Amino acid sequence: MMPVGKCPKCNEVGHRAKLDFIELGDPLRALTGTTYRGFTILCQKCDTILGAGFDPLAIQADTVAQILKGLGVKKDK
Ligand SMILES: [Zn+2]
Repeated sequence: MMPVGKCPKCNEVGHRAKLDFIELGDPLRALTGTTYRGFTILCQKCDTILGAGFDPLAIQADTVAQILKGLGVKKDK
C-alpha cells in the first residue's frame, strides 16, 4: 500500500510533492560557522510547506570533500 498524505491547508491528496532547496542557518551557523543546504517538501497544489530536511547530496559531497582534505588530496583544477 502506498502512503497517502493530505495537505493541511488545501486538503489536496496525492502521491507527489514539489521540492525546493533552502539554506539552513542558525543554530547550525552559530555552532559551525557555516550554513548547510536543505530542502522543503511543498504541496504540489498550494505550495504549503509539508516538511523539510537536509539535502542528502550536499551532505555526501561535503563528507567526501572533508575526507579528501583530511587525506591531503588536492582537487584537480
Ligand atoms: Zn495544499
